[in-house]
Amino acid sequence: MTVAGMTSRHSDTGNEAWTVRCERCEHRFRVVAVGHRADAELVAAANGWDITDQRTLCPACASVR
Ligand SMILES: [Zn+2]
Repeated sequence: MTVAGMTSRHSDTGNEAWTVRCERCEHRFRVVAVGHRADAELVAAANGWDITDQRTLCPACASVR
């Protein structure tokens, strides 16, 4: 399954680094040192991001939805 707006790469420390990108305003949020995409989603959600299978929105865009 692919979640729109979320990409990953290996960071210098060897941990997976995830970048969440808002599909509406290009706002980016970087999550490091988590092993799985689900964990990155939880971290982003805890910071106000609205992430579902259908959309990826930053806190600002999620609040004006
Ligand atoms: Zn946004």
